[in-house]
Amino acid sequence: MRSVVDYSLARRATLAALARGQVPLSDVCDAHPYLLRAAKYHGEPTTEPCPVCRKESLTHVSYTYGDALGPYNGRIKATRELDEMEHEIHEFRVYVVEVCQGCAWNHLTVSFVLGHGQAPRSNGRRRSRTDQLTADG
Ligand SMILES: [Zn+2]
Repeated sequence: MRSVVDYSLARRATLAALARGQVPLSDVCDAHPYLLRAAKYHGEPTTEPCPVCRKESLTHVSYTYGDALGPYNGRIKATRELDEMEHEIHEFRVYVVEVCQGCAWNHLTVSFVLGHGQAPRSNGRRRSRTDQLTADG
């Protein structure tokens, strides 16, 4: 995990503005139905209570972005899938959004870069000459 960006300050500011009545509840508890569905089926449950309704526990949803992802850019991935991708993909950024499935509160919590960090090799897998003889022969 590298290039970590923490959004907790922005989150706290949003919650403070909500508490002061500067921001209507409908502006912060506006999770898109798609995001709510993603939280339900692909999200990672946490034990942290929702800061708005305090009735439900928050769910984390991870979006993945990167040139190396091609058509999968912007997809939602479960944590176990991120572990696999980390070994296969050079570099991609993960945005973790917390979602309350009760009141639809949602906020970006953190983003970070994953990936094995090695530039993709252009000429395929490297093999010794003996390997080629035995494998292809
Ligand atoms: Zn809530």
